[in-house]
Amino acid sequence: MKSLSLLGSTGSIGTQTLDVLRALSASGHSPWQVSVLAAHSNTQLLEAQAREFRPRAVALFEPAAAEDFRHRTRDLGIPVLSGMEGLCEAAAWEEADLTLNAVVGMVGLRPTLAAIAAGKTVALANKETLVAGGALVTAAAREKGVAILPVDSEHSAIFQCLRGNDLAQVKRLLLTASGGPFFGKTRAELGAVTPAQALRHPNWSMGAKVTIDSATMMNKGLEVMEARWLFDVPVDKIQVVVHRESIVHSMVEYNDGAVMAQLGTPDMRLPIQYALTYPARLPGPVGELDLFGLGQLSFAPPDTEAFPCLAIAQEALRRGGLAPAAVNGANEQAVAAFLGGRIGFLEIPELCSGALGLDVAPAEEGLSLEAVLEADRAARAYVDTQLIGR
Ligand code: NDP
Ligand code: MG
Repeated sequence: MKSLSLLGSTGSIGTQTLDVLRALSASGHSPWQVSVLAAHSNTQLLEAQAREFRPRAVALFEPAAAEDFRHRTRDLGIPVLSGMEGLCEAAAWEEADLTLNAVVGMVGLRPTLAAIAAGKTVALANKETLVAGGALVTAAAREKGVAILPVDSEHSAIFQCLRGNDLAQVKRLLLTASGGPFFGKTRAELGAVTPAQALRHPNWSMGAKVTIDSATMMNKGLEVMEARWLFDVPVDKIQVVVHRESIVHSMVEYNDGAVMAQLGTPDMRLPIQYALTYPARLPGPVGELDLFGLGQLSFAPPDTEAFPCLAIAQEALRRGGLAPAAVNGANEQAVAAFLGGRIGFLEIPELCSGALGLDVAPAEEGLSLEAVLEADRAARAYVDTQLIGR
């Protein structure tokens, strides 16, 4: 029996991970035991999950929520961890074989490093970990001999397309993008879009932050950075391809012109399950791909004029050092401000671009965790300063 530490169990990826475990267990396949569940403050859902999966411990980042959980679940007698320390303890839980990090945002970086330091295989949904701390995280994983398995659908697709081939013979990665709810709109039309409109994604049902990132296409920018670190491929060898149907989850082009693609219904439970059962492919909850129903697939170049976030992220990656951490921190703060009705949609790229101008980019070898956290903090402070009085 294998044991899982699941961070962000109450979110979109977290609940779908538990769905996969249920389906594997119903088909007689699950060798999984859940050793820890962690969330921010959703005590009600975490309680239901704890009653069903009976973990050895839970973590709630918010101390008040942890206290509430203790009261509600006295009968279970489950230890309750809290704060960043608790989250890191959950990530490094001794009994766990695999830590799946599905918390949202930069807050996921330290738990990822804690899991690696404890020698856990890491299944990574939390892309901000690699965006802000890619150099740190990949160096730590190499040193510990720990595998990082991608959960993000595009990176899972690339990971699958690389199997049995030589990374040195890759010409380009072709990263597909749905284009989000506003594909085809001009910059002028984007000025007035509301959070409610931006939250309506055509193909995927996801947490609020990644849904807004999809609407601005910052999500694809963050994914370019994620791919750079996961597969050690330079930014200029990563081509973004708009593919509205979200059926081709990404592709790898080799030197001889062959292009390998991974296709499937747009359902995150497929890449989640692959990270859990890798290298095995077991029957799971995901439906068959209906090619005849689909009929056609389309591909187009991205529109970086209407959606400048993609180019901002690519530029941050070219500059290297702490520039990606700064852009990521500004983006998190700007997305929260947009969702709170404080800024317009087009101000998200403006603030991210402003953060790129902050002086936070020393040489790659100078990167430390403290420097990354400081760049993140400085970028958030910059955004807050721009929003004074709003
Ligand atoms: P959600 O907003 O749906 O869920 C976030 C989860 O993280 C919740 O369980 C939340 O707990 C928890 N969380 C937030 N902050 C903390 C904290 N400080 N300490 C502990 N737990 C915390 O996000 P998603 O599931 O959509 O996304 C998670 C990550 O996966 C993101 O990085 C996203 O980019 C990535 N991703 C998501 C995809 C998707 O389809 N959803 C696809 C590909 C990548 P609580 O409920 O208590 O607030
Ligand atoms: Mg993705």
